[in-house]
Amino acid sequence: MDTQKIETAVGLILDAIGENPRRDGLKATPRRIASMYEEIFSGLNQNAADVLNVFFESDSDAPVSVCGIPFYSMCEHHFLPFFGTVSVVYAPQNRKITGLSKIARLVDVLARRPQIQENLTAQITGALNEKLNPKGVLTVVRAEHLCISMRGIKKPGTQTVTVAAKGIYETDGALRAEALSWLAASE
Ligand SMILES: [Zn+2]
Repeated sequence: MDTQKIETAVGLILDAIGENPRRDGLKATPRRIASMYEEIFSGLNQNAADVLNVFFESDSDAPVSVCGIPFYSMCEHHFLPFFGTVSVVYAPQNRKITGLSKIARLVDVLARRPQIQENLTAQITGALNEKLNPKGVLTVVRAEHLCISMRGIKKPGTQTVTVAAKGIYETDGALRAEALSWLAASE
């Protein structure tokens, strides 16, 4: 990441909004923002699917659900944070499962980049589907967007909920409803 370029750009923004980038409180701000962007956009340099490279064999194909994984991301439209939780259900095939921590890591890699919630949801689902080849996978993301809370229509506390599904959770309404009920029970 070109942190020097970020510093220059932030200095220009400060100047453009009518601030004095050289005053005490602001003079280190471009450097702070550059190093913060390195951290919160670190997922840009990582291939999400590569995170899911550890597999285990389970005793059965019983569905696995992982609920309430916290995440922080940046809305690509406004460059303001959106944050909340990701919950996943998948039904293994041929007893192929992955480590629970790998799913949390996948969420981090996909969240740490300019994002929109709809794509985050679809990308998590797609990566799990590709790497585990499960009978089905369903992802629910719940988030608050600061671009809704603090600007525009200004409605703090509004939750945006997105769902993406593949396989049996896409095609079988009863199984999908069952999977959604597990996630709802954990709320
Ligand atoms: Zn936004």
